[in-house]
Amino acid sequence: PTVVFGSLNVDSTSYVAAFPAPGETILAHGFRVALGGKGSNQAVAAHVAGASVDLVARVGADASGEFALTTLAAFGVSTDAVMRVADAPTGVAQITVADSGENTVIVTGGANLALTPAVVDAERARLAGAALVLTQGELPVDTIERLAAVTAELGVRFVLNLAPPAPVAAAALRHCDPLVLNEHEARAVGIGTDAPMGATLDEWRAIAASAVGVVARSVVVTLGAAGAVAASADGSWTAPAPRVTAVDTTGAGDGFTGTLAAFLAEGRPLDDAVRIAVAAGALAVQARGTVDSYSPRAAVLAAAGL
Ligand code: ADP
Repeated sequence: PTVVFGSLNVDSTSYVAAFPAPGETILAHGFRVALGGKGSNQAVAAHVAGASVDLVARVGADASGEFALTTLAAFGVSTDAVMRVADAPTGVAQITVADSGENTVIVTGGANLALTPAVVDAERARLAGAALVLTQGELPVDTIERLAAVTAELGVRFVLNLAPPAPVAAAALRHCDPLVLNEHEARAVGIGTDAPMGATLDEWRAIAASAVGVVARSVVVTLGAAGAVAASADGSWTAPAPRVTAVDTTGAGDGFTGTLAAFLAEGRPLDDAVRIAVAAGALAVQARGTVDSYSPRAAVLAAAGL
C-alpha cells in the first residue's frame, strides 16, 4: 500500500460580500464544509488514481471528526489508522472568501498535533510494508524528520510535499524521493532562489537538476498553469500543462501530489508519473471543490495520453 502520514482538516468556508472589521458581525451569503487537509486530500487523490491507500491521521471526538471519517469512507479510503483523540478538536481551516476573490484562512492544527514522532515508531510495521510513504509540511517538523529517518532505515521510498514550507533538517530532506514543491516552497528551501519570477519550464528543469543529490534525492517543482518539472539521478524533465480554463484551483496541488505518489508506488518512472500528475492537476482545476474535483484514473491516463 501507499501509506499517507497525513494532516487532516475540515474546511469551513464562509462566502461574504466583504471581510468584517474587528468587532463587526456580518451575514455570509453562503457556507460550505468540506474535507481539506493536505494529507487527507492527497490520500483521496491517490486512492482515486488507483492506489491502495492507508491514511495515518488523527481527528478529535467531535462532529468534524465524524464528518471526516464518513467522507473518507465514502471515497473508499481505509480509515483503520485514523484515530480519535479525546483532548483536541479535529484540525480545522476557517476560510472566508470575499466577493473580490480574496480569502483569509485560519488553521488550527488540533488533533493533527497528536501525530508525534512516537506515532511514527508505533507505526513501524505499517511503514515497513509500504510501497511508498507520503507526508506534508503540515505535520510537526520532528514527525517529518522521524519519518525520513525510519523510512531510510527500512529502505522504503519517502515522498515529502513540503507545503507549507517548514524548517525540516537538511539531512531529512536528502532522503526525499522526490521532494515535491511549488515555486514558493522551492525558493523557501533554497531551490531557485536566484531564478526570476516567470522563469521558463526549461530553466526550472535545470534548477531542479542542480538540487538532485544536494537538497534531495529527487525533486519535483509544480509551476501552476505552466505544468511541472522533475529531476533525479536518471535525468531531468519538463511536463507542460495543457491550456485549460481554470474554475477552481483549490486542491490542484494535492491532486497532483496524490496522483504522483500513486503512480510512483506502482513502479512508474518519475518522468511518467509527473506527466500523469500534471494531467490530474489540469483536470482538477476545471472542476469546483477540493476532493470532489479529482478525476478517475482512466480519465487522467487518457488526458495524459498514456
Ligand atoms: P499549488 O496549488 O500547490 O501552489 P500549483 O499551482 O503549482 O500548486 O499547481 C499544481 C499543479 O496543478 C500544476 O503542476 C498543474 O498540473 C495543475 N494546475 C494548476 N493550475 C493550473 C492551470 N491554471 N492550468 C492547468 N493546470 C494547472
